[in-house]
Amino acid sequence: AAQGQSEEKRNEMLVAANKEIDNVRRQLDEERGRIAAEEAAVAATNARVKELEEQLLDADEVRRQLHNQIQELRGNVRVFARMRPPETGTQCAVKAIDVESMSITDRLGDEAVFSFDKCFGPEATQEDIFEDVSQLVQSALDGYKVCLFSYGQTGSGKTHTMLGDQHNEETRGIIPRAVAKVVEASEANAKKGWKYRMCASYVEIYNEQVRDLLKAGSGHSDKHSIAHVDGVTEVSGVNKEPVESVEAAAGLVRRAAAARAVEATQMNAVSSRSHTIFMLYITGEHEASGSRLTGCLNLVDLAGSERVGRSGAEGARLKEACAINKSLSCLGDVFQALSNGQKHIPYRNSKLTYLLQPCLGGDGKTLMFVNINPEAPSAEESMCSLKFAAQVNAVELGRGGAKRNIVSGIGKKEDKEDSSSGEKKPDDKKKVGKRPATARTAAGAAKKSKR
Ligand code: ADP
Ligand code: MG
Repeated sequence: AAQGQSEEKRNEMLVAANKEIDNVRRQLDEERGRIAAEEAAVAATNARVKELEEQLLDADEVRRQLHNQIQELRGNVRVFARMRPPETGTQCAVKAIDVESMSITDRLGDEAVFSFDKCFGPEATQEDIFEDVSQLVQSALDGYKVCLFSYGQTGSGKTHTMLGDQHNEETRGIIPRAVAKVVEASEANAKKGWKYRMCASYVEIYNEQVRDLLKAGSGHSDKHSIAHVDGVTEVSGVNKEPVESVEAAAGLVRRAAAARAVEATQMNAVSSRSHTIFMLYITGEHEASGSRLTGCLNLVDLAGSERVGRSGAEGARLKEACAINKSLSCLGDVFQALSNGQKHIPYRNSKLTYLLQPCLGGDGKTLMFVNINPEAPSAEESMCSLKFAAQVNAVELGRGGAKRNIVSGIGKKEDKEDSSSGEKKPDDKKKVGKRPATARTAAGAAKKSKR
């Protein structure tokens, strides 16, 4: 544009151009300054986010420890009794007295009272039952080995308590509710940076042989061996399927139920004489902190506890009934040994106790539901069930505290907390003793003065 102009004009244009260059430079500098300020602000925000994430992780850790302390104070072996509604018009031998006691009247009219951590009468809903159970589901999510048993004679409500009606929101039992809670919790924890993975196995133990209920057409066989790898129970050759949703779990339960239904007609109601175990493996990983935890939840619908004499078994069936009773008595022996503080606990005496060893010992948490049929003709069996439950209730686990399976990137806390919790324990207990008589301490006292 300057071409052909006078020199004066060209100089003028040059000056103007220089001015414009200066302007642009200034703008550029200002822009650079702004970017630098924004970068600093972003860095500050990022640092704050990191700090808050760490605080959240710490708070989560504190929450876990407090939750576990509560669970340990309640006892790592807990017993709940549940009495199912009687058939209308039948005479009852069992009465739910209050939230902790049940009474039973024998044929001679003698009454005995049993106290447990909790007693549920016939009006208790599945939701009431799950309210207490859900705390142990939380423990499994926190990396503990948890086991729930449903015990009782055939027809007392074991399956109703454990499984219930899967398709009915109100009457569904512990298994579908527990799975829903685990799925929900893993979604909530994802927001805190935890990545949870869940998978499940569903097995049946019959006559000391394991059968995979998730494998179509599978039978009972010796080929499944049980091993404990890093505190986690592995059953060789048994399907372990991912559980990503409540629907996926419902599918597994349906398949298992179908597998058992076929058998029920073919094999003389094996179902009442076998144990079924729903095993939910939970692993959580927190990438930022490098923490990792492995918990598991075993939901066990036990074989009917009725004694051989009453069910009139003979020959082959007698042998079978004995094997069932044997594995239930092995379970009783394990609790007895734990309660006596014996060094040797006979876990290996049955498949069931060996499979559940990580949950039954000092490392785990156990809750047993004793299901009671209150009707008079069942009084003798109910008495046996209540006595068995009382024996289990006598176990005071938690010496040294349950061990949580978590490898933490925060390091310092984990291992030390675990070992020191054992020393803290007596103190914790004293505190409970000093408190005014609460429901909980009353139950503790009842544990010792049980008839
Ligand atoms: P088990 O598994 O111990 O043999 P079930 O769970 O099959 O016993 O229960 C036997 C029957 O009693 C079933 O029809 C079940 O629906 C019913 N039942 C058990 N417990 C309850 C309860 N708490 N409320 C209502 N019905 C129940
Ligand atoms: Mg059943």
